[in-house]
Amino acid sequence: MPELPEVETVRRQLAESLAGARYSSVDQVEPAMLRDCTEQQLRVELPGRSIELVGRRGKYIVVTLGGEGFLTLHLGMTGQLLVDPKDAGAHTRFIFGLEAADGRPMRLEFRDTRKFGRLHFTSGGPAPRLAALGPDAWKGPWDAGYLADRLSGRTAPIKALLLDQRHLAGIGNIYADEILWWSELSPLRPGGTLSTAEVVRLAEEIPARLGEGVRLLGCSVSDFVDTAGKEGDFQNWLRAYAKQGQECSRCGGTLVRVIIAGRGTSYCPDCQH
Ligand SMILES: [Zn+2]
Repeated sequence: MPELPEVETVRRQLAESLAGARYSSVDQVEPAMLRDCTEQQLRVELPGRSIELVGRRGKYIVVTLGGEGFLTLHLGMTGQLLVDPKDAGAHTRFIFGLEAADGRPMRLEFRDTRKFGRLHFTSGGPAPRLAALGPDAWKGPWDAGYLADRLSGRTAPIKALLLDQRHLAGIGNIYADEILWWSELSPLRPGGTLSTAEVVRLAEEIPARLGEGVRLLGCSVSDFVDTAGKEGDFQNWLRAYAKQGQECSRCGGTLVRVIIAGRGTSYCPDCQH
């Protein structure tokens, strides 16, 4: 599933290729993935709108449009946003025609095998569901004090709390395992048992690991590709995620797999406490 670094990779590329562009047509719609508007509204009201800003909050891309419109996009499990794709492609759910700043026609496709992706079209503000999200895990604003406050008194495992988008937005299964490995914390530790020093360490590793994912243009363990169809590189630098049975690169112990919050989790019991 695309997490914050993968979504940020797509956001940066969209911001560059769509700067100064405007929507000219809505050529295909998948009603099952559409939220906060009707298909008719999208087809009638989107064409003609300019793209003012391509932003991001957690795993959501938020496109600010002319006329106070907003497109909020979530890639779900297997979503891909492709600009001018060369191939015909299977599982295309939305197709948009655009006019670039220089008048050149462009094509933006939203492909999604599993159809868990979402496209919200709203006016006056982004999708209402964004109100439930905590601050962006990479860009904030938040600090160790905020994190300590959110973990205080919690009996849920720290891994489950990192995945809860109401505390911090953007962390998913892969980066949670990596962040906890680098923090030398067991994913099973109840959130409320972390010491102040451990919370500070965790608060440093969260943006550090996500920033590394952004620098490496995302993690392509499954379907992730960028807007040009290219894979990221973070999967070659994983220390914990899906490494069960392998040797820990820090202490030489053996990584094990447990299930936390319904998600496969791997960690080193010898050096993550
Ligand atoms: Zn270890």
